[in-house]
Amino acid sequence: MRSITTFDIQYAHRFYRFQGEAQYLHGHTGVLTIEVEDSVNPGVNMVFPCNEIQKTAWAVLKNFDHALVLREDDPLLPAILGVYEQQGIKNGAPTNQMKGEAFKTELCTAYPDCRLVVTKETMTVEGMIKMVYELLKDKLNIAKLTFTSGVNAASQEYQTSKSIDRCPRCGITMGADGVCPKCGYKKK
Ligand SMILES: [Zn+2]
Ligand SMILES: [Zn+2]
Repeated sequence: MRSITTFDIQYAHRFYRFQGEAQYLHGHTGVLTIEVEDSVNPGVNMVFPCNEIQKTAWAVLKNFDHALVLREDDPLLPAILGVYEQQGIKNGAPTNQMKGEAFKTELCTAYPDCRLVVTKETMTVEGMIKMVYELLKDKLNIAKLTFTSGVNAASQEYQTSKSIDRCPRCGITMGADGVCPKCGYKKK
């Protein structure tokens, strides 16, 4: 069965070299839906607690929220970094606190200090799905991702093979030591 959770991500981007309005910098509220597949954990009668899927995903994805997402070859990138540098906010500001863990994959690099994500490919809804899967595939049993942004939407299904060992009392992923990191339940 699947547990399904949805959340909003607000971001600015543009499609560099795209022949249309989207070549200009603009913003969206994107909606990401994550479907996680596994057996139903009999202890709590759920696949996975949705707030825990959100916590796991958000730790990484908050780097995209209220962030600027630009392709690595976009000339806006050095221009904007130059302005941030001049202003003294390139390496952080006291008011910039909602920062995720910095990450770097094949497809994207997050710079939480200046709320920037640099991407290899254009951040279309399809591009976002590829990036999200790359970032979360080892943390969650993702069966499907859907991303919508304005009139655009895309989805992709994935084969899930492994089953995650979950706590029978609170439903979250058991620690490698056989102890639940949340409620302290010990496997016998
Ligand atoms: Zn757009
Ligand atoms: Zn637990």
